[in-house]
Amino acid sequence: MSDGIRLVGFDADDTLWRSQDFFDEAQLEFERIVGRYVDLADGRVAEALYAVESANIAVFGYGVKGMALSMIEAATQVTDARISAADLHRIVGMAKSLLRHPVEVLPGIRDAVEAIAARFEVVLITKGDLFHQEAKVRDSGLSDLFGRIEIVSEKDPPTYARVLSEFDADPGQFLMIGNSLRSDIAPVLALGGWGVHIPYHVTWAHERHADIVDGAERMRQVASPGELPDAVEALAGLARSA
Ligand SMILES: [Mg+2]
Repeated sequence: MSDGIRLVGFDADDTLWRSQDFFDEAQLEFERIVGRYVDLADGRVAEALYAVESANIAVFGYGVKGMALSMIEAATQVTDARISAADLHRIVGMAKSLLRHPVEVLPGIRDAVEAIAARFEVVLITKGDLFHQEAKVRDSGLSDLFGRIEIVSEKDPPTYARVLSEFDADPGQFLMIGNSLRSDIAPVLALGGWGVHIPYHVTWAHERHADIVDGAERMRQVASPGELPDAVEALAGLARSA
């Protein structure tokens, strides 16, 4: 017998506010810059960038600054070091404008978070650059709703277990809401927790691969923020009778 869900975690990027669109625009601009040096027809540039980014996550972590360094590395590789300093500077400029981009909270999110925060303790759990994520939380106007904000370097079962132990919560008392099956849902289900998946209209290639091996019965999927409170209540009901 469990006493049910008492802690609800929210992912931030592409769950509370728009993010991936701006990364995708930066990638298109990157391809335009590098396209002045090499033929883009075979998709080699996008592949090269993704390979460099994936290999660099373990070194730089997630976020805009790591992306910019990976773009510079990939551009140097793909152009055989022919890329000009002026074009490398353009890449740095793209990263700066991404970091300064105004936060666009998704429609309906504030009401959904308010409704859920009225019933459960809530925490924001996000990965990325500490500096950038703190600025986005501040600029989003949502920080008053979140008593705690956890900026983590990876979203895997050990990280969630550490966060839960800080809240003195068992996995069965925790529900995570997010757009990424890989980062927000699968690791929480694997620990024995609960999840509500709210897909965003675009997904970074890195976040696309996820196997929900077990625990699918502890997950719901919703199409919009307005559906979140009911989905959380439905799972909370299941958790109480579990
Ligand atoms: Mg996300």
